[in-house]
Amino acid sequence: MTRTFPQHVDVAVVGSGPCGAAYVRILSEQRPDLSIATFEAGPLLADPPGSHVRNITDPAERESCQHRSEGPALAHAASPAGDREPDARLARPGTFLLPSGYRQQDEDGLPLAAMSSNVGGMGAHWTAACPRPGGSERVPFLPALDELLAEAERLLGVSAHAFDDAPLADEVRKRLGAAFDSGRAQDRQVASMPLAVRKHPDGLVTWSGSDTVYGDASRANPRHTLYPEALAVKVLVDDGRVRGLRVRDLCDGTEHEIRAARVVVAADSLRTPQLLWASGVRPAALGRYLNDQPQVIFAVRLRDTPSSPETAVPADHDEPGIVPYSGVNWVPFTDKEPFHGQVMQLDTSPVPLPGAERPAPGSIVGLGWFCAKELQETDRVEFDERGRDAYGMPAPRIRYRLTDRDHASLEAAREAVRRAAEALGEPLDNEPRTLEPGASLHYQGTVRMGTHDDGTTVCDPDSRVWGVDGLYVAGNGVIPTATACNPTLTSVALAVAGARHIARTTAAEETP
Ligand code: FAD
Repeated sequence: MTRTFPQHVDVAVVGSGPCGAAYVRILSEQRPDLSIATFEAGPLLADPPGSHVRNITDPAERESCQHRSEGPALAHAASPAGDREPDARLARPGTFLLPSGYRQQDEDGLPLAAMSSNVGGMGAHWTAACPRPGGSERVPFLPALDELLAEAERLLGVSAHAFDDAPLADEVRKRLGAAFDSGRAQDRQVASMPLAVRKHPDGLVTWSGSDTVYGDASRANPRHTLYPEALAVKVLVDDGRVRGLRVRDLCDGTEHEIRAARVVVAADSLRTPQLLWASGVRPAALGRYLNDQPQVIFAVRLRDTPSSPETAVPADHDEPGIVPYSGVNWVPFTDKEPFHGQVMQLDTSPVPLPGAERPAPGSIVGLGWFCAKELQETDRVEFDERGRDAYGMPAPRIRYRLTDRDHASLEAAREAVRRAAEALGEPLDNEPRTLEPGASLHYQGTVRMGTHDDGTTVCDPDSRVWGVDGLYVAGNGVIPTATACNPTLTSVALAVAGARHIARTTAAEETP
């Protein structure tokens, strides 16, 4: 049976990850009179919509949801000329990699950049680390940034206290602090990682996803409807103004036009520029200044940890919740030490252990150090009329190089990670491992924000695309700075500003 799509809404949102959900939440709270529709290419996985899949207790069901997030298993378009042969690339559960176009001859490319297609987006699979940006990571032209970040923390349910009773957390922090805190401002000293997680009365901690961002306000809003398996194929623009969206129902292939005076594209940092490009919205900076966070990892067995029953972990531990042992700790970015460090018990870390060792949570910690990439206009995702992806949309092609400065940053990050490892215990490997570009899954910058339409930016500080009234962009692509910290808190904060702009301006338009 063909689904019914609305003919008209006030606001159409593309994508149901944390940033699309933030628009719906703010508008549901501030303008419940507006009709809103969210169109999401991927399937609905769980109830409430947008839940994190690791909260699903049945392992088979969890695995099935991860698999269903990994995009359409269709034949992919032929690789554009210039691709190298694909080498062994592994996607994390719930994500899929670009099948082609991820690296051009003699370039570094982004072989490990991955996406998710499901209600909740990558936010149904993420690690939920939500640090605030510091120093040069911060968007310099947003005076209200701290208030926006606080609002994003409310939406995501961020807490720095989820692991306060983890038996080894204080010790890990003490050792890291001794190695890194000297000379740092108070808010840049080693701390518990702020996490978008929820602590239950029995001590179990579960992950926040878009379900948390949507919150009760969106779920109770009768004027918001979420359409899963509905691919936005074109933003309809006429005379410099948004008129609506063309959406393909992936259940039966039918296409529908939905009129909307405001369209928000929150379709991740590769597919947001893809949809704009497919719609003929092609500002000079579209897809450019693409940057991911070069990443170094290491694993360490903590020195002299107590072997009390409290820290012993059952050998068959495979529960979805996080069991707090050594917690998640944070070495913040500073301009002097421009890395973002994460030290996590291995059962919460997406970083695989070397060898086949099964982690005993708490006694072995994973270290991940992220660098800020040098921004270059030439690093970009580009499109042309020839290649199509598995959805039939213009196939992304990545042009991406690490600069001499990036290699120097990576060397300094390896040094910092060795220093952290030494403070904590005994490394499991001889040397830290440098991951292939894209591995951080924090690729950003492709629809970057700025104060002027000067050819280096795509949208204004309220996320409005220059030159197209009513069109907003959201997600990590909007972040204009080179960040090393996990970007979702910042991109949700920027989405809050955009949503407030819609709430404000629609109200003003209606005032006689
Ligand atoms: P997404 O969550 O990617 O959602 C975009 C949605 O748009 C997708 O569901 C997609 O299907 C949909 N879409 C795309 N194109 C279309 C179209 N044409 N029509 C309709 N729908 C479309 N970030 C952090 O800050 N901290 C972390 O600890 C962290 N850990 C991570 C760990 C993992 C394993 C992964 C996978 C990611 C992690 N991230 C982390 C990244 C984080 O998940 C993303 O930054 C965040 O989800 C971005 O939100 P978004 O709403 O912009 O995009």
